[in-house]
This record gives sequence, C-alpha cells and structure tokens, in this order.
Amino acid sequence: MENAEKDWIVRKREELKSWMNDDKRRTGLSRAISAYTSAKERALSRLPELEELRKEVRGIKERSIREIDALVKVTIDSVREVRGEAYLARSAAEAKEIVSELTGSGKLVVKSKSLTGEEIGINEVLEENSNRVYETDLGEFIIQLRGEKPTHIINPSVHVPREEVAKTFSKLLGKGVSPEIPELVGVAREYLRDKFCNADIGITGANVVAANTGTIFLVENEGNARFVSNAPPKHICLTGIEKIVPTLQDAFKVLQVLPPYATGVFMSAYVSLITGPSKTADIEKTIVYGAHGPKELHLILLDNGRTRMAEDSVFVEALYCIRCGGCMYECPIYRVLGGSFGNNYFGGIGLIWSAFTTGEEGVAVAVDACTKCGRCKEVCPLGIDTPRMVERLKETLVKRGFLTPRHEEIKRNILEKGNPFGEDEARRD
Ligand code: SF4
Repeated sequence: MENAEKDWIVRKREELKSWMNDDKRRTGLSRAISAYTSAKERALSRLPELEELRKEVRGIKERSIREIDALVKVTIDSVREVRGEAYLARSAAEAKEIVSELTGSGKLVVKSKSLTGEEIGINEVLEENSNRVYETDLGEFIIQLRGEKPTHIINPSVHVPREEVAKTFSKLLGKGVSPEIPELVGVAREYLRDKFCNADIGITGANVVAANTGTIFLVENEGNARFVSNAPPKHICLTGIEKIVPTLQDAFKVLQVLPPYATGVFMSAYVSLITGPSKTADIEKTIVYGAHGPKELHLILLDNGRTRMAEDSVFVEALYCIRCGGCMYECPIYRVLGGSFGNNYFGGIGLIWSAFTTGEEGVAVAVDACTKCGRCKEVCPLGIDTPRMVERLKETLVKRGFLTPRHEEIKRNILEKGNPFGEDEARRD
C-alpha cells in the first residue's frame, strides 16, 4: 500500500499544482466570486428575518438527522401512497444498479441538479448502457461538453471564463460564437430545447424532501429542472437521505434560507414541489396516471456513507449542510485550488463529504491545505463548524497511515531523533 499510496499523493500534488498555475480557471473563479459576494450582501441586508430562520433550520436539520432512519421509512411510505416508487440505496453500487434497471438502454436522458449523480458516477453508468445523456443546467452542460468535472456544488463551471465557454460552444455548433454571456445562454437554450421534449427519462436531484407528504422540492433559476422533471414520461430523482426533513412546513423553512446564501437572490425563480406522478381524474372521476407530466416517479434515497457520518459526534454536522455553496466562495484555499479541493464536493465541507462518500485517498493531500481560518464557519447559514471537522479528518487520516512523504519524514525524525528536523540531539544542545 505504501508505494501505491505515495504514487497517488504525487499525482494529486501535480493536479493541485496545475490548478494553481491555471490562469484561465482562476479568472473564471475570481469573476464569479466577486459577482456572488456583492449579490449575497445585498440580499442579506434586505432580509433581517433570515437571522431567526437560519437558527430554526439548524434545529430542523439536527432533528432530522437524529431521526434519519425513521424519516427514510416515512418518506418511502409517503411516496408509495401517492403512486410513486421509492428505494433506499445503501451504497453507490446499489444506486447505480437501481438507475440501470429503471433506465435500461438506448434512451434519451436529460438531467438536472446532478450533484448526487456525480457522487455515484451516474453518467458513466448511463453511457455504458448506451443511453444518450444531456446535462441541462447551464454549468453542467458546459463541463459535460468540455469533458471536465464540476468545481462548485452550485456553479459547476464556475472556473470556466466566458471566452472559454464561447470556444466550447463554437466547437459544438461548428461556427463562431461570441463570448457575450447572453448569446452563450441563448446557444444552450436553443440546443437543449428539443432534448427536453424528446427525452424518455428525466433525472434530477432534490434540494429538500418532505417526509410526511413524500414531496420533492426542486429549487432553481434556469427553468430546466422543471422541464426535466415534467416533460419526459419517467422521472427519476436521486438524492441523499440527509435532504429529508419531517414535514412540508420544515421544507419551506429550508427553502427560504437557501436562495440568498446560494445565489444572492431573495427567492429562486422556480420552486417545483413534486408529490407523486402526474395524474388526472377529469373524466368521470377516474384517476389516470401520466396526464401532461411523467407517468412514473421514482425516488432513490442514497446513503453511501451518510449513516456513518451521522454516527460520529463531530462529522454529523456535515449532514446539516443545505448545499448553498457560500463557504466555498469565501475560502481562501478554494480560490487557489478550486476543483482540486475535494472530489465531487468542494471546499472544507467538501473534504468531509468526499472522504465519506468516495474515499479518504481523494482528500489526503488537499486536507493539509486548510488554514483553519474559520471563514467558512462564519459565513455558513447554519454555523457548521467545518474547521473542527477538517481537523478531525486530518487526525483520522494520519491514524490510517495517509501521510505525505514530508509528514512521514517529520514523524521519523521525531521518533528517531526527538525533533522534527532530524538534527542530532548533541548538535541541538
Ligand atoms: S457548509 Fe454551510 S456555507 Fe457551506 S455549503 Fe453547507 S450550508 Fe452552505
């Protein structure tokens, strides 16, 4: 394990260095960060009631995670009661199996809110089964075309400046596209329009799930999640179990805190509440499923390490995260390392999420980059103590032998010479 581990560390370090030296990525990031920061400050200054609300949401999340097993059962029953189907996937492999069975092959699949899908590598599975897959969130669409990985949980292509987007779209259309942002948005709109209507299956994530009604909340500004969850005949929603809250009222509270911290708006342009498949009883009061919306609704609730997180008195806090992404923009290290700071999740909180959901190796180098400045905790709407969790993660990784060569040298020096520098005791006197 020693050598393989060390090779991996060297590779990760190279990846970190390449990020640090990539001016284009840093330009994209810094433009986005300054636009986000001023929008968020404006929104927060006009919403004083948020102060109270975010404390309430913290309480809701704490309660929900404490009762997570029971809430999963309630959610599954509620979804079945309204003629949907719900599943608990204990691992990424189980979730992939369910998705494969539900989608089959040779289908046209449109997607939105793909963060949890990224966690399990859903696109790879769909494509292996010969399905055609289109990401429809603009940011996800851009990175799908570029063959890249997301770099932010809310703005996955935040590192791609407009000039690069123009090059990508020019290649897609086989003609020059100007780097004017409204024109770029128009390209995506035109290109994806018929995909929504012709798709066999729509796959989304969820922002919140209300257990008592089995309602899926989708919060968005673009309007694509509505198409994805509404136009195709089958809707599959893949989301983590931590998104469940006990009631519809609780879900509405989370909903009010999310947009100002996520995108600096008072409320997102679209909020979809989905409770079961589409239906009508307009002819002789006889219920028929699949009127204008999907005939089938499948909710896959993913564990994949979340229960282990919930069992730990320190890491449990990561499950309270409502995925606003605000802490990433404020993190000085994220600004430099961007997408290399974690695997599918980013920033300090992303280190914890990546470690539990995709493996500790992926964060063993980046975890050392955290300066413990505490800015992430300060700006988090739920006051999540990410620096404490990162510290705990570092300790855990060291205990499991994930040491960089430099740390190993220091450890050896201390054990053999009694000091971290490897100096002979006599010389030190
Ligand atoms: S840790 Fe807090 S600030 Fe960061 S994404 Fe989660 S809720 Fe938002």
